[in-house]
Amino acid sequence: MTINATQSANIANAIENWFSTAARDLPWRNEDTPWGRLLSELMAQQTQIDRVAEKWTEMIIRFPTPLSMAESEEQDVLLLWQGLGYYRRARYLKEASEQICREYGGEVPQTVEELLTLRGVGKYTAGAVASIAYNARKPIVDGNVHRVVCRLQNQGDYSVNDKWTWKMASQLVDHCDTPSKLNEGLMELGATVCTPKKPKCEECPVHSMCSAFQNGTQLEVPKPKAAPQKQKEFHYAVLFKKQNKIALEHRAGKGLWAGMWQVPTIESSKKLTKKEIGSHFDVKQHLEKLGTFKHTLTHKMIEFHVYECSEYKKQLDWYDTATLHEFPFANAQKKVLSFKSLS
Ligand code: SF4
Repeated sequence: MTINATQSANIANAIENWFSTAARDLPWRNEDTPWGRLLSELMAQQTQIDRVAEKWTEMIIRFPTPLSMAESEEQDVLLLWQGLGYYRRARYLKEASEQICREYGGEVPQTVEELLTLRGVGKYTAGAVASIAYNARKPIVDGNVHRVVCRLQNQGDYSVNDKWTWKMASQLVDHCDTPSKLNEGLMELGATVCTPKKPKCEECPVHSMCSAFQNGTQLEVPKPKAAPQKQKEFHYAVLFKKQNKIALEHRAGKGLWAGMWQVPTIESSKKLTKKEIGSHFDVKQHLEKLGTFKHTLTHKMIEFHVYECSEYKKQLDWYDTATLHEFPFANAQKKVLSFKSLS
């Protein structure tokens, strides 16, 4: 099912006009640069926009250009990324800043093809930066755009990455006046009006052209994705302290929370006894439980068990507690530290 040129132009123009007056006041829209847009797009993936808005301002002040980030340490980027999750994006962003300086003279490239060469930049981000920062006539599809185009056509069978969805987004951008406005407007419409559970169709600028609205099927399309099965894990975090020092570990450069810091932690697919935890760290007594909490990720549910221990035999790396703010910690480890008011 497709739409003709006139229908495409009518829908696109209605969204562009609506966006001109309804756009939310977000910091990257006020201080609009290609680098700022690349940052906001990478930061916004799978993260709530309010949280991104707060962090983006800190990030752009600390790293106003690709060069300023390329010349920094990866730890500095991870430190500012704390709380946003999916820390791999921060490491990719750092790599992308280096690539921009090395291969593109320090300027964010303009074309989708060039943008796709950057570390961590996929089809959606490349299209978003090319069209929103440089007004290139290129489509974008994220979850919000996908929902809007599926509902416009009352089509529930396709996913975000399907050809059909991208073709619909292409038809709209091919017939709009200003690609930057249309694409950002489509995303904004999906985020604020055409929401998953309570679409505000009466306020929607395209309701007279929306097939799902006319058929009353808004909540049936797109078909909801089956929630992924969550794997269960057990993490045993031990706070070793002596005077004003605490033992910390630096996580490996790959996998979950790569490059972040943590207190010594055992990860296990099964529950461990206190004896097993003690034997791992070579301690026989003085291992006291402080509490437990659950931490949920997209594909995992992690049960954290937090201990403190005043005995230490195993080789540990000690750091001054007054310097903890210089280390990037994922949210779960911040929570571990909070058991002793250290975060
Ligand atoms: Fe979404 Fe309703 Fe607008 Fe259709 S009319 S695009 S379902 S908000």
